[in-house]
Amino acid sequence: SITIGKIFDLTVQKFPDKEALYDVKKNVRYTYKEWNVEVNRLANALLEEGVKKGDRVSTLLFNTEELANTMLACAKIGAVFNPINFRLQPEEVAFILNDARPKVVMYEKALEPVVASIAGRFEKTGFWIIDGEETSYSSSYHEKLVSASNDEVSINVLENDTYAIMYTSGTTGRPKGVVHRHRDMAEQSLIVISATKLEAEDIGLVTAPMFHCAELHCAVIPRIHVGGKNVILHHFEPKKVLQLIQEEKVTKFFAAPTMWNMLLQENFNDYDLSSLNLGLYGAAPMAPALVRACHDLLGISLVQAYGMTEMGPAITFLSEKDQLRKAGSAGQACLNHEIRIVRPNEDGPSDPDDMLPAGEAGEILVKGPCIMSAYFNREEATAAAMYKGWYHSGDIGYLDEEGFLYVKDRVDDMIISGGENIYPREVEDVLYEHPAVLDVAIVGLPDDRWGETVTAFVVKKNEKVTEEELDAFCLNSSELARYKRPRKYMFVDALPRNASGKIQKFVLRKQMEELVTGETP
Ligand code: AMP
Ligand code: MG
Repeated sequence: SITIGKIFDLTVQKFPDKEALYDVKKNVRYTYKEWNVEVNRLANALLEEGVKKGDRVSTLLFNTEELANTMLACAKIGAVFNPINFRLQPEEVAFILNDARPKVVMYEKALEPVVASIAGRFEKTGFWIIDGEETSYSSSYHEKLVSASNDEVSINVLENDTYAIMYTSGTTGRPKGVVHRHRDMAEQSLIVISATKLEAEDIGLVTAPMFHCAELHCAVIPRIHVGGKNVILHHFEPKKVLQLIQEEKVTKFFAAPTMWNMLLQENFNDYDLSSLNLGLYGAAPMAPALVRACHDLLGISLVQAYGMTEMGPAITFLSEKDQLRKAGSAGQACLNHEIRIVRPNEDGPSDPDDMLPAGEAGEILVKGPCIMSAYFNREEATAAAMYKGWYHSGDIGYLDEEGFLYVKDRVDDMIISGGENIYPREVEDVLYEHPAVLDVAIVGLPDDRWGETVTAFVVKKNEKVTEEELDAFCLNSSELARYKRPRKYMFVDALPRNASGKIQKFVLRKQMEELVTGETP
């Protein structure tokens, strides 16, 4: 049985003295052998706490060695790893804890206020604080480990056992727990290794949040798999990223589009970035103008990944050689996976057999070994999502003649104005071409006459730019039909984003509603 724990063990045996991890904030470095000692100590501490195979262990952590240690220790003892978004509000965390019912929650000192306000409701859960003082409801992670053995554990974990439950961002409705098995994530790791040409010599920088599967499954675990090194940055800081690339001779890293945008605003020419051989982007749409800027200015090879938590996450890759030829595409289906575009059904799951021809946009369906096994405790939602054996993504896109996928938008974000379908991303991609636009989000706002009106929320670069200029720019664009251009512009200081870099359009819609009705909730 290949499991995430086994993957780690094999690398430890193969590269015991190779540097495996550098936690920048704590200034801790481990070889694989040393890292294994830490992981074993935690695995034994969890066993002593009574954690059994199948029990959940949650984390409320920024990017730290302890998050990686918890993931690996759980894998070794067959516990289910449940990383929680550290940006959530206390009630959102409580919702997840109530659903996942973990035996132990590891949390960071900085998140003490969140835990303090809800811990009392979870008497059967042990809260372990990292680098902080114990309280009436929590114990110290480090105390637990001091007394624990560092012997290898011998628990029979099987490839069909659950490896993790990851909660979706829940921009629509309550978050759902996505269940991933060991074998599926081992397969995802192999797919990423081949798509990003990972080798033992690779030094990867962890910049995006590790609780999210993009960073964890498309970067951290594949690097462990091949015996590479993970340099863990506590949280994204553009200057620190550039400095670390130079100092640690980083070869590869993943970043969400918004992070790439921030890197381009820095004086990147002041740093030696020559060690870099690949940048991975994805997890949200990235405008071709931004891809081109990264390519031309940073001078590194780029690979895009598309997917979602439910898919493992990555199921398409756009390779370096196709970046310009297929600009705007998310690439081709990865190894062992199939994609179908089908006619969207408004009244239930789309029919996988109602396929659309190349070039026509519809719902993206996916089949293959990396897809989730279920939503945790949500039979109905699982049945709908996996209708007729195909995972229903809720994303709209099309395949071109060569099988390259173009992701247009979420079904829910599509704007219908004057009876015409408008995909916000098309409009965003055009506005990103304007030199004065730093960031932009397009949303549909309710309108008596048109149903919805296309509205642009724009963050300007320093330059002054007016609504009239942007409107003229859209009118002159050969890529945008007149009716798709924004009829309203809102200039804002920043766009609301979640921790994995996705724009929270529901927040923008709500802000506008409040402006229109003059009510604040
Ligand atoms: P999450 O489950 O948080 O990873 O969010 C998944 C969603 O992010 C998908 O349904 C897509 O809408 C979006 N997404 C991810 N990768 C890409 C990409 N390469 N291009 C466009 N959208 C993406
Ligand atoms: Mg999501």
